Amino acid sequence: MSVMKKLVVGNWKMHGSRAFNAELIQGLLVADLATTAPNADVAVCPPFVFLADVADALQGTAIAVGTQDISAQTQGAYTGEVAGPMIREFGATYAIVGHSERRSYHGESDQLVADKAKAALAHGLVPIVCVGETLAEREANQTEAVVGRQLQAVIDTLGADIARVVVAYEPVWAIGTGKTASPAQAQAVHAGLRAQLAQATSSAADIPLLYGGSVKPDNAVELFSQPDINGGLIGGAALKAADFAAIARAA
Ligand code: PEP
Repeated sequence: MSVMKKLVVGNWKMHGSRAFNAELIQGLLVADLATTAPNADVAVCPPFVFLADVADALQGTAIAVGTQDISAQTQGAYTGEVAGPMIREFGATYAIVGHSERRSYHGESDQLVADKAKAALAHGLVPIVCVGETLAEREANQTEAVVGRQLQAVIDTLGADIARVVVAYEPVWAIGTGKTASPAQAQAVHAGLRAQLAQATSSAADIPLLYGGSVKPDNAVELFSQPDINGGLIGGAALKAADFAAIARAA
């Protein structure tokens, strides 16, 4: 059983504006998470165009910054992509890879996600590797097979460096739907992921496993108290300072 500090990461997705972000950040700073949520490491992942603003506003605070994606390439003719060194230059710590919205809307394969995780590590960023099954896959009893396949691609690509990632289990059917996996359902998947990681590294107990999918202030405590849930990846609730702060405090 893991006793590591919890990690709570906000994924702002394609939301925000400079004015909205400034207000959200102000709310988070007023919440003084370093004092009020001492058991949580906290980060926010704004859209790329706001990275500089948000990183500046959070510099020297307890809140780290990440991105929602990263290119698998380092530089070159890759229109629309953003590379690890560019992200690093703005002081980011994390890069989410393999979010289900990128897998489904942008056709990202398991191997591309693994290559993105590798690129993040190569450029000093911690990849937050998302895995998760659709409702149809869950109903067909494929959950373990699907998340296992998604994670295995990353394990095979990173080798020993798998010990340096964060994994986020996000059942697709729970993202933005208001349906949350029950704590027992989430814990069961997390335990499976931990066991799979243990086949690959002796540090599996130290790899943060986040749960994501309609985490809210009123369900965070129970989710976070599961033995293999080390924090959360938060979508909708990360856009409300009070809710995000309450989730961080739940840790
Ligand atoms: C997400 O997309 O990472 C997510 C967990 O979203 P929500 O919290 O809105 O379900």
